[in-house]
Amino acid sequence: MNFLNEIKHIPVITVISETAKESNTEVYMVGGVVRDLILKRQRSDLDFLVIGDSLSFTEKVATKIGIQKVTKYRNFGTAHFKFQDYDIEFVGARKESYNRNSRKPIVEDGTFEDDIRRRDFTINAMAISLNQNTFGELIDKFNGYQDLQNKIIKTPLDPFQTFDDDPLRILRAFRFAAQLEFQVDESIMKAAKEMKERLRIVSQERITDEFLKILTSPKPSVGLKLLFDSEALQIIFTEIQNLAGVDQRQDYHHKDVFLHTLSVVDNVSKETENVWLRFAALVHDVAKPQTKKFVEGIGWTFHGHEELGARMMKNIFHRMKLPMHKLEYVEKLVRLHLRPIALAKEEVTDSAIRRLIVQAGDDLNDLITLCRADITSKNPQKIEKYLANYEAVMQKVLEVQEKDKLREFQSPVRGEEIMKICNIKPSKKVGEIKKAIEDAILDGVIENSYEAALAYLLKIKDDFLSENKS
Ligand code: ATP
Ligand code: MG
Repeated sequence: MNFLNEIKHIPVITVISETAKESNTEVYMVGGVVRDLILKRQRSDLDFLVIGDSLSFTEKVATKIGIQKVTKYRNFGTAHFKFQDYDIEFVGARKESYNRNSRKPIVEDGTFEDDIRRRDFTINAMAISLNQNTFGELIDKFNGYQDLQNKIIKTPLDPFQTFDDDPLRILRAFRFAAQLEFQVDESIMKAAKEMKERLRIVSQERITDEFLKILTSPKPSVGLKLLFDSEALQIIFTEIQNLAGVDQRQDYHHKDVFLHTLSVVDNVSKETENVWLRFAALVHDVAKPQTKKFVEGIGWTFHGHEELGARMMKNIFHRMKLPMHKLEYVEKLVRLHLRPIALAKEEVTDSAIRRLIVQAGDDLNDLITLCRADITSKNPQKIEKYLANYEAVMQKVLEVQEKDKLREFQSPVRGEEIMKICNIKPSKKVGEIKKAIEDAILDGVIENSYEAALAYLLKIKDDFLSENKS
């Protein structure tokens, strides 16, 4: 199979292939970029495999196209630069071997084959030649092309070995399944279940990175379910795994808290790409297991789960090394996720609405997005009714905001100035003039600016003052 037509328009391809010829070095386009090219997915990072000294090869290419800034990672044998909108990376072919007790592989220079064999999945182990006689040819040692067509994630080697070498690959399998909406091969699932404990040797940063990629995917429940089924979730996010099997009343929500949570995350993800709003959806009921109580005549209750859940966030953020500046936002959404529905009642006071406005602040719309997503009833009539309740709350919010705006509203020309310009003492008249200006603004007679108000004052003042005389 030849991809000449697909790659020839990519900037730098020609220069790279010329450089390869001149320096007698083999170069390939490799990994995710080949996968995405076949899938016609847009991407801005291009990865190239150099059989030989990748750093000096990168220098040569950069010099030719006038790039000054090349970043090199000598230890990893990689170098990259930015060119137009692309992030271009060259990596030297390597061979990896693993020692079970260390997270760090032993890396040496390798052949093309060595490098392709150490890659995680068949769909990521394809290459396109940029070399003279084979330019554009697909090199697919592990049947990755077929697996792409079949939408399946498989490992090039035995998955047990693959996961044992680098257990992060368990999460990467689920991440690609979620991002591409692919299945994972049964052999991966089997190995993942057995090897999941090995995830404990992987650094938290790498785990969190993959986890957040799952949460950012179009339908995060795909990846979350795989994490759950393999029980890898138990290791990387126990609190979420523990939501399974927790019963709740069925009217408003799904019966099982974990399954309910998956729907809420998917619902939110239809509305927003904001990964922290998605994260808030994932954890909004995280304290339900601890607060669960059976009340005769009512059923299962979870009093205070929103407050306890919010308080659990700090620990979770620390442990998962999440960005601390997002903590307050997530805490807030968890803490307030029941509040809007409590305010849907007919007789709710302005001050209760005002409290919500102040507490939610700029995040009120996100809170309502979460609340709407939180309705996972199967009954369309009920869904409609609950959604209408949120409409009503937002209506009240608007009304209260409108009232407050009016109350705060003041003439841009203040009393002191009115007294000075009209040469009058503090009196009822000052208030009347001020009100006349405010009315003119509210009625749209003049615009709400200092200049317009001053001009208007000068215009009406004589009428008011002559009234005063009479
Ligand atoms: P993305 O679009 O998310 O960047 P990608 O396929 O480029 O997807 P990267 O994590 O950037 O993924 O890795 C680039 C390539 O390096 C992969 O396609 C894969 O071939 C290889 N790779 C990355 N991480 C691993 C790993 N842990 N084990 C084996 N191969 C890996
Ligand atoms: Mg990449």
